[in-house]
Amino acid sequence: MKILRRGVSEMKVCVIGGGASGMVAAITAARAGAQVTILEKNDRLGKKILVTGNGRCNLGNRNLSKEQYYSEDLAFVDRVLDRFGTEETISFFRSIGLLVREKNGYLYPYSEQASSVLDVLRYELEQLGVILRTGCPVRGLVRSGSGTFRVMLQDEQLFFDRVILACGSQAAPKTGSSGDGYLFARQLGLTLLPVVPALVQLRCRGSFWKSVAGVRSEGRLCVMEKGRLIASERGELQLTEYGVSGIPTFQLSRIVNRLLANSPEVELFIDFMPDQPDEFFSDFTRNMKKRTRTVEEYFAGLWNKKLLQVFLKEAGLRPSDSVRNIPRQTLERVYAISRHFSVVCTGSNSFDQAQVCAGGVSLDELTDELEAKKVPGLYLIGELLDVDGKCGGYNLHWAWSTGYIAGSAAAEET
Ligand SMILES: Cc1cc2nc3c(=O)[nH]c(=O)nc-3n(C[C@H](O)[C@H](O)[C@H](O)COP(=O)(O)OP(=O)(O)OC[C@H]3O[C@@H](n4cnc5c(N)ncnc54)[C@H](O)[C@@H]3O)c2cc1C
Repeated sequence: MKILRRGVSEMKVCVIGGGASGMVAAITAARAGAQVTILEKNDRLGKKILVTGNGRCNLGNRNLSKEQYYSEDLAFVDRVLDRFGTEETISFFRSIGLLVREKNGYLYPYSEQASSVLDVLRYELEQLGVILRTGCPVRGLVRSGSGTFRVMLQDEQLFFDRVILACGSQAAPKTGSSGDGYLFARQLGLTLLPVVPALVQLRCRGSFWKSVAGVRSEGRLCVMEKGRLIASERGELQLTEYGVSGIPTFQLSRIVNRLLANSPEVELFIDFMPDQPDEFFSDFTRNMKKRTRTVEEYFAGLWNKKLLQVFLKEAGLRPSDSVRNIPRQTLERVYAISRHFSVVCTGSNSFDQAQVCAGGVSLDELTDELEAKKVPGLYLIGELLDVDGKCGGYNLHWAWSTGYIAGSAAAEET
């Protein structure tokens, strides 16, 4: 246990979980004068921050709006973003000594090292005298009739006026967030919306995946429901030995996982040439008509070689077939396959590989200060809530913003 300088307020605030949201909540509560303790089960704070943005920590985005999030209550999300937006994020970090750099709207620490973000948060906590107890998993949480909270540790109980639950979701449990927050919330009578992995790779049927593993290709990934296109994302797709990965896949994974909750499989398709106009194939064949080639040579300039083999097989062709002997409709079919490559998704990778979770504690349970309506004095923040953002810094933004709001509110004397 590390005890540092204490605050001066009467309010004793406990933050359960020393991740992104918990650290910001502790800073704002301590700045407002409360005596703040962070209880963190890992042997150090902010383990997950270190793996964000491939170690660079994409901590926010200029293009912030509720449209970048999923939740049953986007109006609530909007109100939070209104109170703590991108400017507030930049100035909060500036206030603790972190310079932020912007790349196409994406925000990173100027050092482009996630460790800088964690360091400045930790230094500020120490400066403010927040009590940091690491290696300290919370086992239970009870609110007494008098309104104080009893926090159960392995072989000790602690008492607080206010508790901020910041245990995260159950995505990437190696970083500490293994779903304890959901358990505590449920025990306290709060409603949880079903939790599924999001920002995660999709697993698909088909033996050909092994042959295309490692291919990266620009494409549009499309999700179908009952034969209707319901969502699509454009960008670099990464093909793996079991299915698809890459940013567009991550962005769509929560939608697919929701569909998979009610159906064993989901129909997807990939357009591997999303830029090309309708007349592309006629122009292509006009240019190529005098060529004597195998079909593999004919199409060699269009797609990754490994993908081409799959398209040809799907069209019933062998790579060595001569183009002269292939009817135009069959050549057209190869092209059509590349524009509408059908894929059957049977699942996603698990919570272990997911960056975030969709679902969580319902926002209906909370006031705008993120206090539980049924449990006054209890605040819930971060990914534990039924809010998940797209790739692009939006999830960390949600962690900072909810931490900031709840931290200030929890420190207020009633
Ligand atoms: C690989 C990866 C990359 C990502 N990259 C980005 C990115 O670039 N940009 C972005 O915006 N988002 C990114 N995210 C998502 C982002 O990191 C999370 O949304 C964010 O960290 C959530 O913050 P949180 O405070 O709610 O939870 P966490 O950061 O998970 O913190 C929860 C803390 O609670 C602790 N805890 C849990 N249970 C207990 C208990 N019983 N007792 C005590 N402590 C407990 C955990 O150990 C953990 O430290 C990424 C996630 C992953 C996994």
